[in-house]
Amino acid sequence: MANKLDELYNPEKFKEFGDELIALITAHLKASHHEEIEVNKWSAPEEQLAYWQTYELKNDNPNALFKAIIERSIHVHHPKYIGHQISPTAPLAALAGLLSAILNNGMAVYEMGAAATAIEKVVIDTIAEKIGYNENADGFITSGGSLANLTALLAAKQSLEPSIPVEKLGVMVSSEAHYSTEKALRIMGIRDEQIIKIPINEQFHMQTELLDSYYENAVSRGLHIFAVIGSAPSTSTGMHDDLQQIAAFCSKKNIWFHVDGAHGGAAVFSSKYKPLLKGIEYADSITIDGHKMLLMPSIMSFLMFKNRQHSYAAFQQKAVYLWEKANEEDWYDLAKRTFECTKSMMSIQFYVLLKYYGVEIFDQFVTRLYDLGRIFSEKINSRKKFQLFLTPQSNIVCFRYFLDEEDDVRLNQLNNEIRAELLHTGNFYIVQTTLINTVYLRVTFMNPKTNEQTMDELLDAIETIGASKNRC
Ligand SMILES: *Cc1c(COP(=O)(O)O)cnc(C)c1O
Repeated sequence: MANKLDELYNPEKFKEFGDELIALITAHLKASHHEEIEVNKWSAPEEQLAYWQTYELKNDNPNALFKAIIERSIHVHHPKYIGHQISPTAPLAALAGLLSAILNNGMAVYEMGAAATAIEKVVIDTIAEKIGYNENADGFITSGGSLANLTALLAAKQSLEPSIPVEKLGVMVSSEAHYSTEKALRIMGIRDEQIIKIPINEQFHMQTELLDSYYENAVSRGLHIFAVIGSAPSTSTGMHDDLQQIAAFCSKKNIWFHVDGAHGGAAVFSSKYKPLLKGIEYADSITIDGHKMLLMPSIMSFLMFKNRQHSYAAFQQKAVYLWEKANEEDWYDLAKRTFECTKSMMSIQFYVLLKYYGVEIFDQFVTRLYDLGRIFSEKINSRKKFQLFLTPQSNIVCFRYFLDEEDDVRLNQLNNEIRAELLHTGNFYIVQTTLINTVYLRVTFMNPKTNEQTMDELLDAIETIGASKNRC
């Protein structure tokens, strides 16, 4: 067998394939922007599996494979991608991602990622300032919002007296909180009955006026409430909890306050929408996903701490209050703080946008997308055959196809069918959710190129499908 190692690392081959791949991606971006392709080419899982099981690379050019992957993937750069919360990656950030993939610095200790480690600190400091934290704040980049939430809750637990057994711990969250917080708590050994769910009001905000009585009730059951989690916003509806009220409660009771801002924490960059996050600066810890509202390739999340020492707490052997050398912790050996040992050079993807476009790019992106949510809700309100769930606070909007003469059972069925048909035709990509036993269509505006015409076309398409389904 010929030795393939020289070919594997041949820089000329890299350039040849790379140039072609860039051309391929460029054509893909153009076709997406101009809607020359469908947003999604649906195939059932078994068919998809069979395709890749039998796939053969016919010539010696890997770009045939890359082309097939593009064709069989959902296109988040398409203006009709209005579904799950993921950024249409900034192409420049993706190029930084390629550089990270080649340099492959492991980041666990300083010398295994010197540049990217220092860059990470600059990025973290930028975000801390936007949050309104002071110079005591710190944080790091980690692999996804779920892991960030887990790490934050571990830090909260570590800051307690070790004599409190895990089965006595309790956490308060809104009943609408993201399932990742429940997963995190289960990993920590906290059972369902230790998770105190605070009911929501009719606007789907946590009823913060109930915090006191739910707290007293939990305490009377022998629980020690160690954290309250606020959603900014909750995923299914895009509605924000009142962070200021939660902060006041946590401060009064001396409880850790965590903000799950995986989606909307990015609004700290938006001068127009930052008021939604009023009180976030009091949070002990905050999760913000880069790959949702900050243009990053997935996955990449910021976990921010108001108090620098806490950023070391999650994986520290000793409890925080026992540290002798807390102030001597080195900022530059990142794996002391993260669950990951090896992690990719995620910071450079954010930093390149910061340097090239300036911090305004994040303001413009978030503001534009949240504006689209409002515009869309007005369109829903102006159409007879649609019902808006709630006036949106963000770029997440829930609504349903609605006919006066039909009952909820039939309407649920119709909306299910509408969403399925949209998915299977690949015309638009939107999702659905069930709120109080009612099926809603759910859109999240993630693409600044989505415009009013896209919205009108979507609503027309839904009306057409709705009318045809209702006839049969
Ligand atoms: C998306 C999301 C998460 C999970 O983040 P991942 O990066 O997908 O792991 C957690 N909380 C909220 C509110 C989210 O929207």
